[in-house]
Amino acid sequence: MTSTDPRPSQNVMRPDKDHFLAAENPFEEMMSRFDDAAKRLDLEPGLYQILRMPEKQIIVSVPVLRDNGTVEVFTGYRVIYNTSRGPAKGGIRFDMQVTLDEVKALAGWMTWKCAVVNLPFGGAKGGVICDPTTMSNGEIERLTRRYTTGIIETLGPDSDVPAPDVNTNERVMAWVMDTYSMHKRHTVTAVVTGKPIAMGGSLGRREATGRGCMIVTREALKKLKLPLKGTRVAVQGFGNVGSVAADLMSREGMVVVAVSDKSGGIYNPKGLDLADVFRHTAQKKLLNTYARAQQISNSELLTLDCDVLVPAALENVITDENAGQIKARIICEGANGPTTAEADKILNQKGIFVIPDILANAGGVTVSYFEWVQDRGGYFWDEETVNNRLEKIMVHSFDEVTAMAERHQADNRVGAYMLAIDRVAAVHRLRGMYA
Ligand code: GLU
Repeated sequence: MTSTDPRPSQNVMRPDKDHFLAAENPFEEMMSRFDDAAKRLDLEPGLYQILRMPEKQIIVSVPVLRDNGTVEVFTGYRVIYNTSRGPAKGGIRFDMQVTLDEVKALAGWMTWKCAVVNLPFGGAKGGVICDPTTMSNGEIERLTRRYTTGIIETLGPDSDVPAPDVNTNERVMAWVMDTYSMHKRHTVTAVVTGKPIAMGGSLGRREATGRGCMIVTREALKKLKLPLKGTRVAVQGFGNVGSVAADLMSREGMVVVAVSDKSGGIYNPKGLDLADVFRHTAQKKLLNTYARAQQISNSELLTLDCDVLVPAALENVITDENAGQIKARIICEGANGPTTAEADKILNQKGIFVIPDILANAGGVTVSYFEWVQDRGGYFWDEETVNNRLEKIMVHSFDEVTAMAERHQADNRVGAYMLAIDRVAAVHRLRGMYA
């Protein structure tokens, strides 16, 4: 599969049979953390009400002509959570598990994430309920174009800027950009990020989320005075985030002992031969057919004996059922919302250092911001500049989150939410309420 193939990589993490699919509602999960931080910030009641609700929720029917001549109507969403700090920013996912509540939660998380790393963006998210693995390229293109047209009023470089997310990639972003541009009657590159480099994408964007995970994990090890060399890492999810994080962490001297995809995981307590694993997955093969390591399940991976756990797949995988058995000293949340609020309490009791999603995986949207800036300026940076600027923002944000947490004797997640909500609230106060 080439990088321009719009179909999801076989390595995108989906639950396997033994994977516990929690019933938690992601919006409630997000809100319980929001409430905790808002209380500590003593947020005024009016602002509290405003920030608890998305600004706008769009539901569209997306009719698609299937290759066999029939028409199938899909449901798509775009939720704009908050735009006080700038244009709404957030990915589009194509997935059977998409629900309005999930998209609302993800749009909220984007708002807090952009504020944690201090980008001049608000938060949004989009999703279409579909299974792109069963669709042809042509069907995915027609779905993308019709969905884009359905939400076109909200889109624009100054209003709402999508990016890739679960099961979407740069090819899909190219179609969003083209559809929008055809309607506008001129080319608008800055309407999406995560585009192919040849049409206004940024160098380093594809690796940015995984690179950000590596940077904050390195900072956490430093903070805890733990050695980097030889640190044993287990990574759940081998898509764009997990595979890059594993690769970059091993290049830094950490030892990746386990990785997994939707089919299950592989484990070698002495460290996996990642180059060999990448050769295997490059042939579109799943990890459950990889013979040169021990086969484990996705749930076994989470509770392995390791130093750093990177959940880089889907929501709600660390729950009150398995949190007690986690042995890692550090959890770096590559995915959005991998830990339930109940599990958080257990992880805190165990003294596990959690790098929360809205910090840990903010590298992606940070380089999306760089891409948007480059598109608008029409001047493109080299990869070194992109990576250096990403490094600076991630390290600084890590320091700000941990300082906030320490100041309020809170865990890092609450610290991150407090930092973010405080920034969004400050802008609301300055702007006042248009009544
Ligand atoms: N989908 C990514 C995320 O959840 C990137 C969003 C973006 O770059 O706008 O952070």
